[in-house]
Parts: sequence; structure tokens; C-alpha cells
Amino acid sequence: MPEGPEIRRAADRVARVLVGQVVEVARLHLPNLQSQEARLAGRTVTAVDTRGKAMLTRFDNGLTLYSHNQLYGRWYTVRRPRMPKTARQLRVELHTATHSALLYSASDIEVLTRPELARHPFLSRIGPDVMDRDLAADQLQERLMSPAFLRRSTGSLFLDQRFVAGIGNYLRSEILFISGVHPARRPVDLTARDIEKLSSNTLRAARRSYRTGGVTVLPALERQLKQDGLSFGKRRFYVFGRDGERCHACGDKIERLVVSGRNLYLCPGCQPGPPEC
Ligand SMILES: [Zn+2]
Repeated sequence: MPEGPEIRRAADRVARVLVGQVVEVARLHLPNLQSQEARLAGRTVTAVDTRGKAMLTRFDNGLTLYSHNQLYGRWYTVRRPRMPKTARQLRVELHTATHSALLYSASDIEVLTRPELARHPFLSRIGPDVMDRDLAADQLQERLMSPAFLRRSTGSLFLDQRFVAGIGNYLRSEILFISGVHPARRPVDLTARDIEKLSSNTLRAARRSYRTGGVTVLPALERQLKQDGLSFGKRRFYVFGRDGERCHACGDKIERLVVSGRNLYLCPGCQPGPPEC
């Protein structure tokens, strides 16, 4: 499932063809949405924002096309009149004079007014977006120290969209590893320095992954691993998906746990657990 950085990159591609442009033709293929097509056609797209794993395409009449990709949803952008070669089901078509933005397979799609957007059940529940350029590390520190999150294990917290939206399974493992924090430890167990590191590394890892197209290891290490002959899939992460392999930092064997129903990867050498572990 794509995480915040991947959704933001998809939003950038959609924004490049839509923002500032008039949508000449809008087609919404879910039966309950077809009456909304006329409200979008002829309008100009003002922005394409993301909130966690949701994408918000905003129009100049105050309407927003909300789409959540879930597992299979995928946006394509093409020059008109081409259409992508895919067997996926077409859900949304937005055509400008020159380009098309097309959403396939997603089923969680809505056209919302400003008040509807403000009280949207998913959006009103989730925390700040990890890809929000205005989100600062001290806001994350405050959240980690707040009563709602202080006594939760970091392993469950870093998958909870109410804590921070847009962090998914690979970012969770990578952020905890980079910060040297064992997933069983809770914010209340950590030092002020740990909390500070965890907060800044959350933003740093998500932004690096956005810039690099899904690589969380530092550029010098990635170059080294590439020279060693490792494929892209094998060199992009410190721990995620690497159980049984050696930690790049200390040489210990990477382990896999299941936390909140999903695989979590960690290095026992770099992420010592609390005494009761
Ligand atoms: Zn290690």
C-alpha cells in the first residue's frame, strides 16, 4: 500500500497536468457519483493536496474531489487523447484541453463541499500529515508527549493515522530503526533526547523517501550498496523486509515482529528493548 511519500508524488503528477487548468470533461464512473459530473466540468483545478493516504483535488467553486486509493487505486496522467494500457477499472476521468488525469480501481471517491470536507469521517479523525511542509518536529514532540499517545507502544503509534497521517508500514520500521527506538518502548519510557530524535527523524525519513522515490537509507550508503551489487529493492531500506540479513550499522541480524497486525522489522543491536522485553 502506498504511504504518504508515494501519495504525494502521485499528487504532484496529477497537479502538473490539472492545476490552473479548466477541466473540460469530467466523468465519474461510480453510479452514485454520476450526478456530480456537471458540478466539476468547466471548473478550474486550484490545488491537489494530500491528507495521509487521501488525495484532495480542489476546484475553484469550492468543491473537492476526495479519493482514497486503498490498496489498488492508481492515478495515471497522459496527454490527450491517449489512454493508458491497463486492465484496471476506470473510476474518474478529468480531461483538460491537453491532458487527462485518470483514477483507476479506487472505490472510495466523493465530491464534497467545504462543510462536508470539514466533517468528513476519515479526514476529521486523522492527525497532521507527515508530508505537510508546515509540520514541524516540535509539533510531533508535543503529540508524542500528549496523554492520548504517551503510554502507547511506538510500534502501534507509528501506524496509527490519528497520531500522524501518511506513515505506513515501511516508514514505521525505518523511522524506529533510524531513531534507535525499540517498538515496544512507549514515549513515556524515552528520554527527551530520544523524543526529539524520533520527531525529527519522522519528518526526515518521510521527506527523503518523497525526494528519492522510496529510499530511506542515506545517499552515501545507497551508493555503497549499489557498488556492492545490491538491487534497488535490496538497498533502499535499513531494516524493512530484511529479516535474517545483517544490519548495515552493527552487523546484527534483522528481526521481524508482527505489531498491529503488520510486519515490523528491527535490529536488536541498534534498537535495544525495554528491560522487561
Ligand atoms: Zn544494528
